[in-house]
Amino acid sequence: MPAPTNPSEITREALRRLAMQRMPPTPDNFRKLYNEVAEIEDEGAATPLALLRTLAGHLPRDTAERTRLAKPIDQALAAGKGAAAEEAMLAYLGSLKEEEAPAWNTLIGTLIRKWEARQIGWTTARKRDSLDRVLAANDPGTLYARLQGLVRAWDQAPSDPEAPPPAEGASAPVAEPGRDAMRAPAQVEVKLVASGESGEIMTSLRELLVVALETVVPASLGEYPELVAEATRLSASVKASANAQQLDTVARQLRKFAYRLENTAGETAEIRAGLLNLLRLLLENIEEIVIDDQWLHGQVEVLRDVVNKPADVRMIDDAERRIKEVIFKQSQIKHNLEQAQKTLREMLAGFVDQLASFSETTGSYHDKIAANAIKIGQARDIAEIGGVLDEVMRDTRVIQEEARRSRDELQSARDQARAAEARIAELQRELEEASRLMRHDQLTGALNRRGLEETFEKEAARATRRGVSLCVALLDIDNFKKLNDTWGHQTGDEALVHLIGVIRQNLRPNDTVARLGGEEFVILYPESDLEQSAAALVRLQRELTKAYFLADGQKLLITFSAGVSPWNPGEPIDTVLDRADKAMYEAKQTGRNKVVARPAP
Ligand code: GH3
Ligand code: MG
Ligand code: MG
Repeated sequence: MPAPTNPSEITREALRRLAMQRMPPTPDNFRKLYNEVAEIEDEGAATPLALLRTLAGHLPRDTAERTRLAKPIDQALAAGKGAAAEEAMLAYLGSLKEEEAPAWNTLIGTLIRKWEARQIGWTTARKRDSLDRVLAANDPGTLYARLQGLVRAWDQAPSDPEAPPPAEGASAPVAEPGRDAMRAPAQVEVKLVASGESGEIMTSLRELLVVALETVVPASLGEYPELVAEATRLSASVKASANAQQLDTVARQLRKFAYRLENTAGETAEIRAGLLNLLRLLLENIEEIVIDDQWLHGQVEVLRDVVNKPADVRMIDDAERRIKEVIFKQSQIKHNLEQAQKTLREMLAGFVDQLASFSETTGSYHDKIAANAIKIGQARDIAEIGGVLDEVMRDTRVIQEEARRSRDELQSARDQARAAEARIAELQRELEEASRLMRHDQLTGALNRRGLEETFEKEAARATRRGVSLCVALLDIDNFKKLNDTWGHQTGDEALVHLIGVIRQNLRPNDTVARLGGEEFVILYPESDLEQSAAALVRLQRELTKAYFLADGQKLLITFSAGVSPWNPGEPIDTVLDRADKAMYEAKQTGRNKVVARPAP
């Protein structure tokens, strides 16, 4: 290829060689190369003005600093001052030297480090391939930019913990001081060089970490204050870490913390399993103790169900309420029982005492009368009889007194018994009031009206919060009066319990059933629209036809009519119940054993 003769071409070629040979871009080096290209003998002469002009025309002015530095060159050239132009150009190139040289050092340092590290998805062969492609760039600017891009790609890939450690012990915790000193600032530089996006990701991740440490950990580990304190300490370290090295230290502490958390979680799970077992045992024993209270047996049954299913917040909440009621009712029954027993014991004791003393007194009186009768029979004169009579009179007076005393005592015992009776009646009233305060129906164990209202409030709030629907269904047993009339009230009661059992078996864990009164029931279907809720009711009707109710060994078919309607956010339970009731009435009118869905107005 012939040597270029055009100064502009010579300049371009000289610049290319400057870059290819990685020579610092000083005027001396440039002049040397320019002369080499132009095949001029280099005499170290002053730079010709034309050359300076050409050079100035090629100087990049892509930053404010470069534009500022290029200005005095242009001014000197315009004034034809070669020396000043050269001096200004020296200043320009000097700044380039400061700007470029350390960036190359850093980039190459990082490149080597990232080459040694293992990242997921970057095999050595793939790295070599990419590097070969990047090295094909034919100017230093492009090469620099592409190498920077490549290093960023390796840096952003998650590191591969499975990969064997780099051959030269680059990740050894105690590296030789020289290498370490070089590597640490290089690492910082990479974070700074990394584009804005990864910087933002880093910031978000740090914020996320702080939130996790400051809110999530205390919320879930309230019972482990030392772990919470450690989380708070770590959070402060994360906030305070300003560079990669500090973050690295925090990361190591975090890893240890995660290990402790893992251990604690295992321990918590064990404790939970242990507690559940204890509860199971307790339930078995309660069954033994409660003897013949059907309601309590029902509650215990439901609790056992809860314990045997996977835990769920709603269920635990329900279980807690039921346990409280069981405890409350047991204490009431026990109190009443003790009171009644005490009264009975006292009355019996008093009565026995009375009987004993009365028969004792009367016994001795009879003996004395008999003895006196003999004396009278054997008396020889009236004076003797008079003496005996005196004695009889005395004894009679004593017995009279005794009888009066006994009568008074009996009277007082009767008053006491009346007072005890009144007290028991009062306690019974209190118990009824307490039952009214309860949330569960005593016969079926389903929620009662009060329980329904409480649960409804919770579900309505949840539906509003999550923006999901909540449907309310009203069920009424068909021809229940006939069943009662034919089979008796007791069988009617059993049929109600049977129905609740079937309903429970077919509800989703989040659905709720309550007995509104008589043979009317309400079901709450959270997170179901009208169509889904109506379909659930139809399914329930089908299941009920399969689950026969046995009365005296005879299979009876129980059916119900139902109305269902969606709850409108903000409206009270009675409004939606009223709509469901109207729909239920329609179901009765149109032949029973039906489900009528009524949309919200
Ligand atoms: P329909 O299909 O129209 O609902 O007819 P029905 O006979 O079911 O309705 P009605 O309202 O005429 O009768 C309801 C009956 O339910 C009357 C009442 O004796 C009975 N009942 C209400 N509460 C109880 C209860 O706790 N136990 C029992 N065994 N029966 C009850
Ligand atoms: Mg009814
Ligand atoms: Mg009915």
